[in-house]
Amino acid sequence: MFNSIALVGGTHGNETSGIQLIRNWQQFGLPARFDELNVSLSIANEAALAANVRFVEEDLNRQFTLAGLANESRAKEAVLAKSLNQQLGPKGNSKTDFVIDIHNTTSEMGATLIILEVDEFHTQLARYVKHHMPEANILVEDEKPYLDHGYLCTTGKKGVMIEVGGQPQGMLREDVYLLTQTMAEVILDFCMAYNNGSISTDNLPQCEAFRLGENVGFPLDENGQRTAMIHHALQDSDFKPLMPGMPVFRTFDGKDITWNSDKETYPHFINEAAYFKLDVAFATAQRIIL
Ligand SMILES: [Zn+2]
Repeated sequence: MFNSIALVGGTHGNETSGIQLIRNWQQFGLPARFDELNVSLSIANEAALAANVRFVEEDLNRQFTLAGLANESRAKEAVLAKSLNQQLGPKGNSKTDFVIDIHNTTSEMGATLIILEVDEFHTQLARYVKHHMPEANILVEDEKPYLDHGYLCTTGKKGVMIEVGGQPQGMLREDVYLLTQTMAEVILDFCMAYNNGSISTDNLPQCEAFRLGENVGFPLDENGQRTAMIHHALQDSDFKPLMPGMPVFRTFDGKDITWNSDKETYPHFINEAAYFKLDVAFATAQRIIL
């Protein structure tokens, strides 16, 4: 039973879809069918929003490890994380049953639901979302225990992220906004059905999902300078199968670098602008059925 649900936008200050959805629902109210749910609406990082940047000093969405919340850091986002943890959590002993945190990506990932655990609840949620929003993608990041993640959504007893793209940082696209709104509403519809006891795993069709593998870096020279860019055949092909031998990078002197692996993968976060400084080109995933 979900007695309290928190919907959060602006964890990254230049990801506008969630920010606008929260502001619109604050101004006009949630759709009336959600009246019986107790949903709080909040903007996480107002200072980053005002500056139209992802974060001011440190990435807020990496601050919510138990160690991070306990340390003495005075960085703006570290301090903010402690205050948000008091408001939404505290992590590990939370007053909030379900935290839904809304993000954008510059990658062509469509509407993606990121879940951090594969148990009966999250299987039901994934199946429900995919059933009611077939264009949605389900991404599973369960490479470590739920509480070990530094994500804001882990302040809740349960937490998920909505990740929608492709949208450039700092601007608002209507199509991306509508995908964000639809996915948020489908998740709240699930919460209603869950509270009413009308969710059953067996009555929901199995669904496709993608389990995070690892990050793939850009090719660098001995000075740490990039020698290639994402190949046009890979660009915007998030969650599409990348087969051995298919092109991945185009070097600046015009050669193709191919996927040098013996098995297919499902790349995502392809050319994500926020990972530019980390030289991350994309992440791999394995296709699974939930
Ligand atoms: Zn984000």
